[in-house]
Amino acid sequence: MTQGANLLQEIAAVVGPDNLLQGAAAKRREQPWKTGQPFRAKALVRPQTTAQVAEVMRLCNACGQTVVPYGGLTNLVQACATVPDDIALSLEKLDRIEEVDATAHTMTAGAGVTMQQAQDAADKAGLFFPVDIGARGNCMLGGNVSTNAGGTKVIRYGMMRDSVLGLEAVLADGTVISSMNRYIKNNSGFDLKHLFIGTEGLLGIVTRVVVRLSVRPVSHNVALVGCRDFAGVMQVLGSARQALGSSLCGFEVMWSSFYDKATQPVGRLESPLSERFPLYAIVEAMGTNAARDDDIFSDALSSMAAADLIEDGVLAKSERERDAIWAIRGEVEWLVRDAQNFDVSLKCADVGSYVDDVGARIRRDVPGALVAAFGHLGDNNIHISVLSDRQDDHVRATIEAHVYNALRPFDGAISAEHGIGLEKIPWLPISRSEDEIRLMRSLKKMMDPKNILNPGKVIGA
Ligand SMILES: Cc1cc2nc3c(=O)[nH]c(=O)nc-3n(C[C@H](O)[C@H](O)[C@H](O)COP(=O)(O)OP(=O)(O)OC[C@H]3O[C@@H](n4cnc5c(N)ncnc54)[C@H](O)[C@@H]3O)c2cc1C
Repeated sequence: MTQGANLLQEIAAVVGPDNLLQGAAAKRREQPWKTGQPFRAKALVRPQTTAQVAEVMRLCNACGQTVVPYGGLTNLVQACATVPDDIALSLEKLDRIEEVDATAHTMTAGAGVTMQQAQDAADKAGLFFPVDIGARGNCMLGGNVSTNAGGTKVIRYGMMRDSVLGLEAVLADGTVISSMNRYIKNNSGFDLKHLFIGTEGLLGIVTRVVVRLSVRPVSHNVALVGCRDFAGVMQVLGSARQALGSSLCGFEVMWSSFYDKATQPVGRLESPLSERFPLYAIVEAMGTNAARDDDIFSDALSSMAAADLIEDGVLAKSERERDAIWAIRGEVEWLVRDAQNFDVSLKCADVGSYVDDVGARIRRDVPGALVAAFGHLGDNNIHISVLSDRQDDHVRATIEAHVYNALRPFDGAISAEHGIGLEKIPWLPISRSEDEIRLMRSLKKMMDPKNILNPGKVIGA
């Protein structure tokens, strides 16, 4: 049996000594967003091919060595947390875009390609990779698959799962499962890719993916509107859906608790609206007929104003103005760094009452806490971020309990898109039945009997 230093030597022989980092060299790996997952593992391994990933896993499995897959480390749930006995396996060197097929509308790429690189490559080919999140410059396709990333265009294009046609994954014992399907339709038995989508590295290591691309839109309209209450925001959403149909691709809501932190005088950014409102919404549409789409969009906004659904609004006239509106929604560094962040799902119509309820409960028990709310309302998903001067375990637990317990009456989900990682394990039973959790554990046991792949995450030890 391979053990300790022997194992590391054998791994170094597979990946090359430069790709097995230890000590300060491993710790130096950049964590661009401060997601609080310090490197504690005994080594960081950087394979360059699927064959190397498979050989490393075969060696690790033989001696029960635990392995934590690393993508861009941008997850917000401690899904890449390591302990000193672990090895971290980074996919960063599987960073090649193998093919963009402009006829079939597919891209084949390594797991270490960043979301931004995938978007740029699609754009260069006159196509569009629609999964888009604030961490696009750092997160990687393998991580996006493993977390089933959502983002700002889910209302139209779906989540990462909807963009993945096929993938290749290495199992815990080193077996390579090549399921590189390229077709929209393929019902040839079980669609095994789903075992690896959204399972946070517990069932296998994703090494390559085939993603579906869309036609590149030629029109792009973005508006920011101010509303007097949540009922008004819901009316704007209904009206936007009706008027814009399938060109509606984003609908984000921001409570003033978030907006006021992001914009001047408290925040850095200039508000494009002269007045302040309790709530704001960003409406985004993309289409394939520039002249017609622009008219439909501005008519939709005029109708909303005429019907008194919006108090004030601004329609972006240029890319710079579109970016300025989205920058407000993207102003989250302060949250990622300092706040307790939650991302929950519930029926759109219940979101307003839920946010009010959670805010009141937290402010009652943690005086002075800022409860900021914002998110992808068009797909039922709200982020709650809580900033408090008091950061002890008791306060953190109180805040967490309020956010999750308040979901129960609404039958809400504890994670809309960020996943479970280590952080949400105790709360999983709110969203999944005992039978579902038992089946997750059975699958894990069957596919990784020695429990070496990202152990302790999602379903616990
Ligand atoms: C500013 C900011 C904005 C964000 N906005 C959104 C958003 O709008 N929507 C959203 O869904 N998320 C969002 N996130 C969260 C995060 O960016 C996503 O979860 C992203 O998909 C994680 O990708 P990653 O490459 O960083 O994965 P990592 O954080 O490195 O890993 C995430 C999980 O996947 C596993 N993993 C990574 N790579 C592989 C692989 N190749 N094979 C198997 N397992 C693997 C890891 O072990 C871990 O369990 C945001 C994060 C930040 C910092």
